[in-house]
Amino acid sequence: THESLAADTTTTAVCGYCSTGCGLKLHVRDGQAVGLTPETDYPVNLGMACPKGWEALRVLESDDRATVPKRRSSDGDLVELSWNDALELFCSKFKSIQAKHGNDSVAFLSTGQMPSEEMAFLGALTRFGMNIRHGDGNTRQCMATAVTAYKESFGFDAPPFTYDDFEQSDCLVFIGANPCIGHPILWERVLRNKNNPEIIVIDPRRTETAMAATDHVPLNPKSDLSLLYAITNELITNDWLDRSFIREHTHGFEQLRSHVARFDAESVARSSGVSADQIRRVAAKIGSGKAVSLWWTMGVNQSYEGTRTAQAIINIALITGNIGRPGTGANSITGQCNAMGSRLWSSTTNLFGHHRFDLAEDRKKVAEALHFPVESIPSEPSWSYDRILEGIRNGEIRGLWVVATNPAHSWIDQDDARELLNRLDFLVVQDMYESTETARHADLILPAAGWGEKEGTFINSERRYGMLKKVRQSPGQALADFQIFRAVAHYWGLGERFAEWTDPESVFRIMQRASVGSPCDISGIEGYEHIDRCGGIQWPWTAADAATSNDNIPPIQRRLFADGTFCYADGRAKLIVDEITPLPEVPDDTYPVMLLTGRGTVSQWHTQTRTSKSPVLRKLYPKDPYIEIHSSDAQSMGVFNGDLVRITSRRGSIVAAAMVTPTVRPGQAFMPMHYETTNRLTLSHFDPHSRQPSYKNSAVRIEKA
Ligand code: SF4
Repeated sequence: THESLAADTTTTAVCGYCSTGCGLKLHVRDGQAVGLTPETDYPVNLGMACPKGWEALRVLESDDRATVPKRRSSDGDLVELSWNDALELFCSKFKSIQAKHGNDSVAFLSTGQMPSEEMAFLGALTRFGMNIRHGDGNTRQCMATAVTAYKESFGFDAPPFTYDDFEQSDCLVFIGANPCIGHPILWERVLRNKNNPEIIVIDPRRTETAMAATDHVPLNPKSDLSLLYAITNELITNDWLDRSFIREHTHGFEQLRSHVARFDAESVARSSGVSADQIRRVAAKIGSGKAVSLWWTMGVNQSYEGTRTAQAIINIALITGNIGRPGTGANSITGQCNAMGSRLWSSTTNLFGHHRFDLAEDRKKVAEALHFPVESIPSEPSWSYDRILEGIRNGEIRGLWVVATNPAHSWIDQDDARELLNRLDFLVVQDMYESTETARHADLILPAAGWGEKEGTFINSERRYGMLKKVRQSPGQALADFQIFRAVAHYWGLGERFAEWTDPESVFRIMQRASVGSPCDISGIEGYEHIDRCGGIQWPWTAADAATSNDNIPPIQRRLFADGTFCYADGRAKLIVDEITPLPEVPDDTYPVMLLTGRGTVSQWHTQTRTSKSPVLRKLYPKDPYIEIHSSDAQSMGVFNGDLVRITSRRGSIVAAAMVTPTVRPGQAFMPMHYETTNRLTLSHFDPHSRQPSYKNSAVRIEKA
């Protein structure tokens, strides 16, 4: 822009929306960012950015930024108060609830949008300091399934890939993933692939990615697990296997073989809606590929048997030896910019640095790294997100601290979630904006700085630590979440315990100490300047790596398991299978349509908390809700494109405009998750292993409004 040309310096920071982790060059004048351009030298995006990244600065300027602490008065209005009074109110309310109802009666919900150091601080402050046992992240809504699947299959939550694999494969399989929309820069990496690759897309919708595929597999919603078992059966039957890899690096092949033998192509064709020929063709393409990569996102993760589905994908990569080599892998693409930071450092499901709460030696190691008493480290993980909400329902949880997330919009079965928020004795919302759906329920609002107004590290989908930089002043009295946590520690009486936690880089040093000897060891990183200089650094990067490398500069692209050694003690991965479970809600005469939800556009992010603030991004997306329905369904309802329709599920009823389109099949419909009303319809059902909500299968009725 004209302004950016007048900048007096530039610096590179990682984008704060999605897990791609693009590098953005910020043009700075007098200490304030005045423009940005995609960073051409950053190894992730190579000079590209999607509209959200381009507009990252604009959304910081919104009128509804939270700029001063506010509390809810007895007549329901929000009134300003000082930070001093706000922090005293917060601590006294939470302490009095704990005194009356027990320590476990207060909890927190956080985010995958904060830097790792802030996640580490929040987890340590609450769970090792404030005696708050229960807290979870909104990463439960996007990545919990992949975490559980990897941990059980590999022995560690270890996504094995690097983005270069998009360009190295000769066969890419996308399952429940629409990177054209969800991860557009990663899709650009696919387009750079010079191998003329097969691109197989397994998805009920004819998504933008499916339209570009060489083979779209339009299966019935949530028949993916049986389809993957049928493909596995074909691979085994035709001996399209890497038998030496199976023999030397895995457990459970015989069990896998006998389990999937029941899933012959003909019978799965009947249940999945995919022809037997297509099942065999896809298996043959995988079996004949020299470098096959399998990629999944929310179509798998957000489903009631997501963990086993993800493991069915992992099984295929393992038995065909497609792992640890260029262009291969069973690869979960994460959602949020720091979903992986949450997985590693939030101390909710996993103990600080992916240790185990239930192992005394892990608790001791973490306590030593943090210089905390070992008794301060609990021996159990937190309740999951859904269990915390159930705790509100039955009176176990009475105080809640919500940090940079918006459950009143994003949680499944929304009316119920909002009713639960209203039951709380005290709800604290810490956010950049005071207009979120969740903030409307708050008793206390703490104004937070956003992306670009603070520093720390994000970890992207390929395990790359990248730098978030402070290039602007936050508005009014808004503080970095890090500083809010530091202040809460002080007002709670924990200032001495957290004396070392003075700034994000000092917490990064603590994280490094805790990581030593684990698969995510980052002890070889010199510090923030080193990460910046190297264009991000993928974990692991150990002190030994640093000592043996040239000038401590890691290779730009590194993948895991190159030698076939996984993270279990014997180095072998597990092939895991399970019985298929029936759909929790099947369309019937009253609710005959299966509703799918998901990301609808490249220009909006999640609940639109930030992206709705950009006039440019708003122009790229319909303001009012719409629902995709097939022309045959539209015809039987007497509905034309653009007509308003009423959509009703067993949970609620909403109105949206009909978008008549062949992207969905008859009997199915799709609504973007970005609209406030969408989750009034969704069914509260969860993967039993990961407790991730199943957003992809709700039966609805659609009528002309
Ligand atoms: Fe890149 Fe994702 Fe940011 Fe878009 S939102 S610029 S794809 S990191």
